[in-house]
Amino acid sequence: MKNPFDLKTLVRPNIAKLKPYSSARDEFDGEATDMIFLDANENPFDNGFNRYPDPHQEKLKKKISELKQINPENILLGNGSDEVLDLIFRAFCEPGKDSVVVLPPTYGMYQVLADINNIEVKEILLNQDFQPNTQEIFSKVDSQTKMLFLCSPNNPTGNLISENIIHEILTNFPGIVIIDEAYIDFCEQESWSKKLDQYPNLIITQTLSKAYGMAGLRLGIAFASIEILDILKRIKPPYNINVLSQKQALTQLEKSEMLSYQLFDIQENKSTLTQQLLQLEFVKNIIPSDANFLLIEVDDAKLRYNQLLKKGIVVRNRSNQPLCENSIRISVGTKEETEELISVLKNLN
Ligand SMILES: *Cc1c(COP(=O)(O)O)cnc(C)c1O
Repeated sequence: MKNPFDLKTLVRPNIAKLKPYSSARDEFDGEATDMIFLDANENPFDNGFNRYPDPHQEKLKKKISELKQINPENILLGNGSDEVLDLIFRAFCEPGKDSVVVLPPTYGMYQVLADINNIEVKEILLNQDFQPNTQEIFSKVDSQTKMLFLCSPNNPTGNLISENIIHEILTNFPGIVIIDEAYIDFCEQESWSKKLDQYPNLIITQTLSKAYGMAGLRLGIAFASIEILDILKRIKPPYNINVLSQKQALTQLEKSEMLSYQLFDIQENKSTLTQQLLQLEFVKNIIPSDANFLLIEVDDAKLRYNQLLKKGIVVRNRSNQPLCENSIRISVGTKEETEELISVLKNLN
């Protein structure tokens, strides 16, 4: 199969024709100082958030651009990566007509967003080693299949998807390939965003919710070609990132030293937790993880989940996902939390 990628044929016709909303801050750049702003019906009394936010988030994008070494033109920000994923669905998939490929066990939001947008999901299970089955994928793709979702490192299994397989999919799949790198900052693997130039059908999503410690601010990132981002920008709500989130994220991203200490700590706690888990009789398997969580197979997931809950520890039972029978997903906490978890686990019977 060869990749006959043509962006124009993938965009929904109504979106291709759409004239985007032009906000007050589009027509005049709100960053200009010493002006009197009487264009957006705001309350003029300054309280730090009486003005609309920058719809293009220029300062924040510049910071992310420096951190990630990607041009600001190749960055789009969303109210969490969940908003970014929803924009992608609405740009490319015609409700009731188009389909997408999802590879379970994986992040549940792809299916939910597909359902909300009335898009058929072609589910193709990962192999036993949690890698995509490319032959089966290509046999299920048809002319209505617009997008394919890869999650690497994958949630809930924690493993990276092999580079060769991703390359094979990117070069052969005729639609948009989304690589969800929510957990990329926890591993050594280079982001696929470095290879945007090679693959015109690639969108990478990342988030400030996990390693960067800003889940409460809701900031998601898409990296893609200018052509793809032009389409997504047509449907992005103009003021989707609020003033306080933009400001707070900038402050937080300045603290790179603190962040690397935190990431180092998390790695240490992960390896302590792994070693200790291996010694427990009711733990049957631990999947090697490139993320900040472990998926462990136990003797009886429901029992172990409830026992932990009684001791005040909340984990996630992932047993209802395919290939995850009796599996529990545990996020890596602080040193103290990890010690408490281990001591509770050791005393279960
Ligand atoms: C947590 C997570 C996200 C993050 O979503 P946000 O909306 O940015 O908080 C995205 N993808 C995966 C696979 C995740 O696990």
